[in-house]
Amino acid sequence: MRHRYLLLAILALALQPSASDGQRWWTHIEFLADDSLQGRNVGTPGFEKAAGYVEQQFKEIGLKPGGTSGYRQAVKLESRVLVPEESTVALVRDGQSEPLEPREDATLSARGELNGSIDAPMVFVGYGLSVPEARWDDLAGLDLHGKIAVYVTAPVPAEMPDNVRSHVSSTGERWAVLRKAGAIGIATLPNGAAQPSGRGGAQASAAPRPAAPPSPQPTIVLADRELQEQAGQQVSLSVTRRGADKLLAGSGHSFDEIAALIRDKKPLPHFALTGTLRVHATLKREPLDSENVIGIYEGSDPKLKSEYVVMSAHLDHVGVGRPQNGDAIYNGAMDDASGVASVIEIARHLKASGAAPRRSIVFMTVTAEEKGELGSKYFAAHPTVPAGKIVADINLDMFLPLYPLKVIEVQGLTESSLGDAVRAAAKEQGVDVQTDREPEQNRFIRSDQYSFIRAGIPSLAFKFGYEFGSPEEKIRRDWVRDVYHKPNDDLNQKVDVDAAATFDRVIGGLLRRVADDPGRPAWNDTSFFKRFAKNHTH
Ligand SMILES: [Zn+2]
Repeated sequence: MRHRYLLLAILALALQPSASDGQRWWTHIEFLADDSLQGRNVGTPGFEKAAGYVEQQFKEIGLKPGGTSGYRQAVKLESRVLVPEESTVALVRDGQSEPLEPREDATLSARGELNGSIDAPMVFVGYGLSVPEARWDDLAGLDLHGKIAVYVTAPVPAEMPDNVRSHVSSTGERWAVLRKAGAIGIATLPNGAAQPSGRGGAQASAAPRPAAPPSPQPTIVLADRELQEQAGQQVSLSVTRRGADKLLAGSGHSFDEIAALIRDKKPLPHFALTGTLRVHATLKREPLDSENVIGIYEGSDPKLKSEYVVMSAHLDHVGVGRPQNGDAIYNGAMDDASGVASVIEIARHLKASGAAPRRSIVFMTVTAEEKGELGSKYFAAHPTVPAGKIVADINLDMFLPLYPLKVIEVQGLTESSLGDAVRAAAKEQGVDVQTDREPEQNRFIRSDQYSFIRAGIPSLAFKFGYEFGSPEEKIRRDWVRDVYHKPNDDLNQKVDVDAAATFDRVIGGLLRRVADDPGRPAWNDTSFFKRFAKNHTH
């Protein structure tokens, strides 16, 4: 008799409604965002504990190891710090050296490669962009060889779609163009026209995401210099409003004049600055080991199983930092333990359903997203499955299940055929889709999917959507303002776990569709990102 009850109990558990799916999803977050994991910063025991957890889950689900060593793909990183007392910046004019005060005037970044001294002329290059398709060229006719390029981090006023603007203004793209023109470093001036931000307010496209925690932390880069976005950049200097006045002194131009032009969305002048920039830097570099964790669900079609759909989420967060309300642990429950939990749950559901998708599926948690999408960049350069056989990336990063799911905001919805696939998958669950609510935030290129996009692979990312003026909009905006990259992105926030489970069903359905579709996903002809696609031979 006891056996019969046991059987009933198992049956009841197996048939439990979606509430248990949501609860199960939440238990992963409870582990990953626990204080004992100390915010999962790369190179810390907390991150390693998280990696071990994901590996164990993948193993229990029955995914095949997809790394270079079991489930793991080693990602070699480098930690860099500038020794403050041995790192100085000064303006040299007529043989006189005027020091720039750290933070007050200008902050030197350890992204620069200089370890020693340099004295270089400077050129103001406006927005610092060269975009042929928008007929915009800040570098035309300028000689940048051996010079520091000085530019404002303001959105370029040229006409172009938001995704394109995001791409050309990204740190890597910008530097690639400046480096080609001969520059040996950069100094960025603030966006003098920036308003207190609100919807449609002027925002710097290329402004770095808020660095949290704001206490000094080492800069982390990929160890392989070939993969470093800022390779060749000797000097990386961020200049304040006060410092900008000092840099521009004697040039015949003022920062007020430049700020007014930015406000009026006008082109900016280009001119040489007087004197040279003298930089001394002592750069300490240390190797740091981390890893991506990868499990594979093998496809069933004899031919298509050698193609792969990737589902990714980042495992790292920003660690321990400046305390807020007595809490110094940046737990990263939504960012991005939530995405990792969904990767695990979607894999588990797939396995439990006995599904036999035609293509293979790569379930992956990547490292060092918070340091500039380094883990995914490394995987895109050194995939553990044949590069040309990756057909799509479905990335989950902080999708914010803070209220019931009526509509999913899809980043990249109009860029590729994946848009139709997600529409169909959402419809099956009674959910609508919408395009990016805040295109000026450039989210399509602000997480790990961008590493795949740049490798030519159609990709999508998601958020819980909202209608403008709705209570949901307020909830999301308040969250971004009050919780994003703060210690209270922890286990004590209100999360709609049932809505998260619905979201997982939509994404699971999307994954199945992409895996089963006889044709591989394709960029739309109108997509700017189509240019990165290589000609895959089938
Ligand atoms: Zn983040």
